[in-house]
Amino acid sequence: MKKATMIKLMDKLLEGECFIVTSHCNPDGDSIGSLTGLCMALRRLKKKAFVVMDDAVPANLEFLMRLSGASVLEGALPEKYSLIALDCGDAKRLCCSEAVKEGAESIINIDHHVSNDCFGDVNYVDKEASSTSEIVYYILKQISKEKKTELVDSAIASCLYTGLITDTGNFMYSNAGADSFKMACEIMKIGIDKDSIVKNLFQSNSYSRMKLLGDALETLSLHGDSIASIELTQEMFQRHGVDSNSTEGIIDYARDIENVEIAVLFKEKSKDDIKVSLRSKEYADVNAIAQKFGGGGHVRAAGCTISDTIENAKLLVIAELKKALKL
Ligand code: 5GP
Ligand code: MN
Ligand code: MN
Repeated sequence: MKKATMIKLMDKLLEGECFIVTSHCNPDGDSIGSLTGLCMALRRLKKKAFVVMDDAVPANLEFLMRLSGASVLEGALPEKYSLIALDCGDAKRLCCSEAVKEGAESIINIDHHVSNDCFGDVNYVDKEASSTSEIVYYILKQISKEKKTELVDSAIASCLYTGLITDTGNFMYSNAGADSFKMACEIMKIGIDKDSIVKNLFQSNSYSRMKLLGDALETLSLHGDSIASIELTQEMFQRHGVDSNSTEGIIDYARDIENVEIAVLFKEKSKDDIKVSLRSKEYADVNAIAQKFGGGGHVRAAGCTISDTIENAKLLVIAELKKALKL
């Protein structure tokens, strides 16, 4: 990342007095991790920092909201504030109302999506970074250096570590680079309870969610050797009483089949509103495919929404996946 962009961002964070921090809708570990970590750091810098997230925080990430004591904005908007958008590739996906966007004096966009369209007034978009949490970590280190203080304490480190391990699949994906391992090493030296984070994130599933996974696996299908799909319908969510946002990781079962290059998950949000998740293993650019349907993301993980029935969404997307893989 260019030094000048980093300095511009640091100035913006240091000169501001009041911030609203938000992220993308259907938040994940990186969005909540970077959001809680940055909010705590801003408060340590004696700034006002409020969280606005219109979607519910998934159950396995609630521990970060508790740990960080994140102040969720209640009541009227502050008179003057900058809006910090974390881990979000386009303004339409921000998890806050138009009023929150329009009321902001400026929008600070901090992200790592290849599809990011630089919608902010200040844009710090590092497409090489594993996660937004990694970007926030290195910004906070830089601010610490300038302020001659150590901003990243154990609580902030725990939030950022959560984002790092969720977006890299526990360092398994190709986006885990030298900076990611360096960050993990430094965080271990600061001291965090990494076992408790892993337990909260990956080992605290409800029984119902596991039964939902069972139903989802019943729908697992191959389309040729290299495409696998999974479906989750409203009927399944209702049968098991599981929130439709708690589906992180289910798509991995499709991707992890031998010879599969692209995995796709079709999630019925309502009868004609289908959330499509895409993952690739080695070479396919799923961001390019998601963009054909108005979505985006990363080369190996992307998504889009299709306003049609699940049957039609399947026909449309699987045809496009076959085209991309020249099947
Ligand atoms: P997921 O499939 O887990 O929802 O998302 C995978 C990646 O693609 C995430 O980085 C997410 O932010 C991005 N993504 C998912 N859906 C959309 C979408 O509709 N538009 C854009 N721009 N990005 C998306
Ligand atoms: Mn995310
Ligand atoms: Mn991310």
